Amino acid sequence: MIFNQNGKVNDNLFKYPLDDYESFKEKALKCERCHLREGCTQVVMGEGSIDNKIMFIGEGPGGTEDKKGRPFVGRAGQLLNKILKSVNIKREDIYITNIVKCRPPENRNPTDNEMEACSPILKTEIKYIKPKVIVPLGSVALKYLVGPDKQITNDRGNWFNKGELYFLPTFHPAYLLRNERMKKPVWNDFKMIKKAIDRINDLYNLN
Ligand code: URA
Repeated sequence: MIFNQNGKVNDNLFKYPLDDYESFKEKALKCERCHLREGCTQVVMGEGSIDNKIMFIGEGPGGTEDKKGRPFVGRAGQLLNKILKSVNIKREDIYITNIVKCRPPENRNPTDNEMEACSPILKTEIKYIKPKVIVPLGSVALKYLVGPDKQITNDRGNWFNKGELYFLPTFHPAYLLRNERMKKPVWNDFKMIKKAIDRINDLYNLN
């Protein structure tokens, strides 16, 4: 499990030093810890604000992300941008990343071993950001971050917590591209997320 019951990161044997975010990112971009790196163009690191205590986490880069070296910039990412905008969340105010940083072949789901090999990067991102709220995007992220028994269709839009860390899972935007009628419930999820962001900003004087 990536988190313990208290919402603290369970460290791997291999850890990145917590010197500063930019040098961590430089090291992570050179990662060759698993075979996914052989089949992809580049490591795609997370991006956005490391100060605002909110993370959106998908499963892994797709084709466009692999080419451009940025997360959520393909069709699903464009839809995510639209939904964020509709509830007044600025993309640059949140941190967006993926469980695995290298594109799995044919955009298949990452395997348990691949997620485990990549986990030092995600765990280090989490240590820098110290999120209060994590939004798992889709089933793979929900199961990996909250628990393998969770089901995105039943559990999206519900809050889960581990200690003081809160999760609000929602459907992956790629799923919404295929299931238009789910846009409404997801929009409601994003309205809740916006409220949580405003609350975090008030509590931590981030504005
Ligand atoms: N899907 C993901 O899970 N992540 C991306 O970055 C793009 C598509």
